[in-house]
Amino acid sequence: MAHDVVLIPGDGIGPEITQAMRRVVEATGVQINWNVQEAGAGVMDEFGTPLPQHVLDAVAETKVAIKGPITTPVGTGFRSVNVALRKHFDLYACVRPCLSQPGDGSRFRDVDLVIVRENTEDLYAGIEFDEGAAEVEELSQLVERSGQKTFAADSAISIKPISIAKSRRIVEYAFEYARRCGRKKVTAVHKANIMKATDGLFLRVAREVAANYPDIEFNDKIVDATCMGLVQNPNDFDVLVLPNLYGDIVSDLCAGLVGGLGMAPGSNIGADCAIFEATHGSAPDIAGQDIANPTAEILSAAMMLDHLGENDAANRIRAAVSTTLDEGEQVTGDVRRAQTGSVEGAVGTQAFADAV
Ligand code: ATP
Ligand code: MG
Repeated sequence: MAHDVVLIPGDGIGPEITQAMRRVVEATGVQINWNVQEAGAGVMDEFGTPLPQHVLDAVAETKVAIKGPITTPVGTGFRSVNVALRKHFDLYACVRPCLSQPGDGSRFRDVDLVIVRENTEDLYAGIEFDEGAAEVEELSQLVERSGQKTFAADSAISIKPISIAKSRRIVEYAFEYARRCGRKKVTAVHKANIMKATDGLFLRVAREVAANYPDIEFNDKIVDATCMGLVQNPNDFDVLVLPNLYGDIVSDLCAGLVGGLGMAPGSNIGADCAIFEATHGSAPDIAGQDIANPTAEILSAAMMLDHLGENDAANRIRAAVSTTLDEGEQVTGDVRRAQTGSVEGAVGTQAFADAV
């Protein structure tokens, strides 16, 4: 049976790495009807939005999509298409496995942990007010009335909503994932000592949920201490569950433990849709040069194949990637540099995909 999948190439290195990914998936023999849809700054002129309705409709129909990264310009009014997609389909769980590969060039060995990041609220909700906005003055008065120390008049403000229901569903997802995948421990990451209301709520809910899973070990850790622990003893960690922003940052840190952003796959899972994408962004600095590492995108496709029930093909892809990296002859520059200190002898994006 053929699977219908929306493919959003994205921009920056997106088109190159998704092309490499697609060729690898096709080599497995699994039949996929690719519905290619463009989104991002490139379609703004034509459709007046970076995320046109027909793209949303296509994903709503197939319920499965794989995408390349889409650039979010820093500090402009342009909202992130990546975030908008996660919000639109309520893809509340961002799951990012970080697994050491032989030959990944990392200074760490045998890292095997999974980030479960809340994907819909927290500071990523994007509720913000510029300095000087009327709301900032109103909020300042509100804070004053509540008896708390208020902020400077020239402040910009971000609102950090953390809800009981969304905290519960992400922590439950993490425990269910742990059970399903035979994992032993879930660590809730927070800063509840400082953000007693928001992170305090997250931690309280996490503890409540954990009580329902006596078969899985549970602990919690402050986010800063987690960062230190991850680089000192990554093998102490198994499944980490985090609010959105900490999840974003710790994801990149963990990618660094397993060879860098070019290696870390991911998925965004909702109740009825799933969108697969690498952890990294569009890397405009290396776009269009056939030097980006497509591993993260290829491994994201393997996660997608698992989701589609094509576990055999998914395992074959993972084995092929692992063998290619281990042989070390045909790897991209980022891996080469990690392995040898120089990019000399590296191959391009498509040549790596050929090797896989
Ligand atoms: P975003 O805000 O979308 O997460 P970012 O600012 O975190 O984006 P990325 O695009 O994720 O930045 O990448 C940061 C840097 O890491 C890039 O500039 C690039 O040098 C490197 N990088 C990212 N992805 C890859 C890849 N697939 N292969 C090689 N290098 C990469
Ligand atoms: Mg990033």
